[in-house]
Order: sequence, then structure tokens, then C-alpha cells
Amino acid sequence: MARTRILVVEDEQIVADDLRETLEILGYEVSGLAVSGEEAIAKVAATCPNLVLMDIRLEGAMDGIEASHIIQTDFQLPVIYLTANADRATLERVKQSEPFGYLMKPFSEKSLATTIEIAIARHQAELKVRQALKTVQASKNAAEKLAHEKSEYLCLLAHELRNPLTAIKFAAEVLQSHSEQLPDDKKMRYVQRIHTATNSLNKLLEDVLTLEHSNASPLQWSPLEVDVVGFCEELIEVLQVNCDDHHTLTFSSNIEQYPAFLDEKLLWHLLNNLLSNAIKYSPAGGTVFLKLHGEPDRFSLYISDQGIGIPPQTLPRLFEAFYRAGNVGQIPGTGLGLAISKQCAELQGGSISVDSTLGQGTTFTVVLPRHKKEQ
Ligand code: ATP
Ligand code: MG
Repeated sequence: MARTRILVVEDEQIVADDLRETLEILGYEVSGLAVSGEEAIAKVAATCPNLVLMDIRLEGAMDGIEASHIIQTDFQLPVIYLTANADRATLERVKQSEPFGYLMKPFSEKSLATTIEIAIARHQAELKVRQALKTVQASKNAAEKLAHEKSEYLCLLAHELRNPLTAIKFAAEVLQSHSEQLPDDKKMRYVQRIHTATNSLNKLLEDVLTLEHSNASPLQWSPLEVDVVGFCEELIEVLQVNCDDHHTLTFSSNIEQYPAFLDEKLLWHLLNNLLSNAIKYSPAGGTVFLKLHGEPDRFSLYISDQGIGIPPQTLPRLFEAFYRAGNVGQIPGTGLGLAISKQCAELQGGSISVDSTLGQGTTFTVVLPRHKKEQ
């Protein structure tokens, strides 16, 4: 076991030499000698002892009690006072400085050794308590942060639920109270509003459930062999039909087939959200590109558009649930898609990043491990 290293602070040379000898006989290592409070602090910083033996009356402006206060607060080291005689006022100051020990000169070797051992043991116990308190504080802070985020999340969710519910309630009331006066086309418009609002409620709930599900069971993903090239081609085909030729969707790949072990459902959520965004946030007539770059152990997917872009200052918060950038205007959305995409990428050991120029376009990059059979 390493020997306890002690700094001796004593301005009388003979006493200091004597003390050094005694300490070495007792099996301690003397890390240095200091004659003033200022020198003691400098030597503590330079030599990192385990304990300081401190005379109270010292050379220089600073006495042992002041030096000890600095050493205990700034370096968290135990200090034992050694003194020949002390008046009441000094003793009072000694008490207030909460020393780890106090020895009246002359003292025996035995009481010196006992005081040192008790001081070291008490100091270690205090360090443990302090560490435990730190850990408790850290988990308390983390729990408070989580609770705060959850309550913010619930407020946002409630807010998002309120809009379609208000629309449904209003349309239902109009139909109930004024049905006889309303022409058929107007009635149909109110019915249509109810349908639209119900659909957006459904999508919102589906998104929230997907997000919560992947949060709650982060290890549950079921990989199957998927040909990523075929998967992307199919997805692009389906989305192209859905967007009625308002946009052109293109897919390209550096490889003809790319078998990988992936969870198809997660991959679908991941790409569907990114491609839907690319379509939604770019003007009609725009082209949306999906590019695959397959490598032996991993592959990258690039989803690019020439749309409205993303303000740079909003990029750090983009993947937070319910966050939407300020330039979306009237384009509808709840701000959940990217949070879902991020979860889906991370669940499969991958990552997602974004590069965007405001007013010019955006590229999302997804990197996923291939998870080959033999791995
Ligand atoms: P939804 O939950 O219906 O997908 P959303 O599209 O608003 O709603 P996200 O997909 O999470 O939500 O996207 C978050 C925000 O990121 C968007 O509101 C938008 O500000 C910005 N964003 C995402 N993709 C693009 C893109 N391709 N171009 C410009 N802005 C984008
Ligand atoms: Mg979206």
C-alpha cells in the first residue's frame, strides 16, 4: 500500500526536522516542509500530500488557521494543528475551522500516529459521503429534468390534440343545430372537416405511440434480411403515387442489391418520415432524391430536397419531439416525424444527421450498420 504523504508546516527548523524524523520512523512519507501559510498552499498544490500537519503561528502574514481554511476548502485535504499554547480566541478560531485533529506540543509519537490515522480515516469517510451525495444529487437532477421534459411533452401533446378536437366539435355543432338551413355542399364540407380532423388525430396518436413504444422498449427490434435497394425502390414507388406527380421522386444506388439485417418497420418509419418531409417542405415541381451508398459493414441513405431549408439556429433542436422550425408557415405538421426517425435509426445502432441551406434545400443522412448474418 502507498505510504501516507504528509506536508509539515512549521517555521522552527529544529522542530520541523524533528517532526520529519518522527514521521518517517512511523512509516509516513514527508512530501515537503513549509515555513509560512503561503508556502504551505503552494506546496500542497505542487506535491499533492494526503494530509497537512500545521503549526498555528507561522512566518509571514497568514497564520496556520487561515492557511488551513484555504487548504481544506480548495484542496479538500485534512489538516491537523500542532501548537504549543493557544489562547481562548485562537482556540475559538481553531474550532470554527473544523480541523481533522489538534495536538498540543509536546506530544508523544503514539498520539501523533493515532491522530493522523483517525484524521485520514475520517477524511476518507467524508469523501465517500460527499461522493454519495454527489451521485444522489446527479440522479435527482436527472429525474427532475426528465419530469420537466415529460410534463412539457404532455402540454404540447394536449395542445396538438386540442386543434382537431375543436374542429370536430365545431363542425358537429353546426351540423346538429343548423342542418336544416345548410345547403348540401356546405354540410359535406363540415363532414369533410370532421374526417380531416379525425385523420390528423389518428396520425398524431400513431406517432406518439411509435415514439413512446421505442422509448419504453429500446431493445425490441426484430431484424430480418432485407434488400435495402428493393425496399427503397418500393417505398419511392408508393410515395410517388401518393404525391400525385406534384413532385418527382428519384432513387439511385451505388450497388444493385444490398442485403442487410434490419427491422423493416423501423426502416419504413425512418425513411417515410424523411421522404414525406422532403416532399412537404419543397415546392410543387421539385425533385426529391433518395441515394443509397452501400459499404461492406454499413450503408448511408441520403434524402435531399430543394425546398425551404432549415434556419441554422434551429438545427440543434430539430430532433426534439414537437419542435418545428419558424419558417414552416402554413405547412401542417406536429413536429414528431424527426423524433421518430431518430429513434428508429438509433434503435438499429445507426445515426441521423442534417445539412441544410435556408431557402435552397436540405439533406438528411442516415447511417446504419449492415448487421450481416455472420456478425
Ligand atoms: P410531423 O410530425 O407531421 O412529421 P413535422 O414535419 O413538422 O410534423 P418533423 O418531421 O419532426 O415534424 O420535422 C420537424 C421540423 O423540422 C419541421 O417542422 C421543419 O421545421 C423541419 N424540417 C424537417 N424536414 C425538413 C425539410 N426537408 N426541409 C425543411 N424543413 C424541414
Ligand atoms: Mg414530418
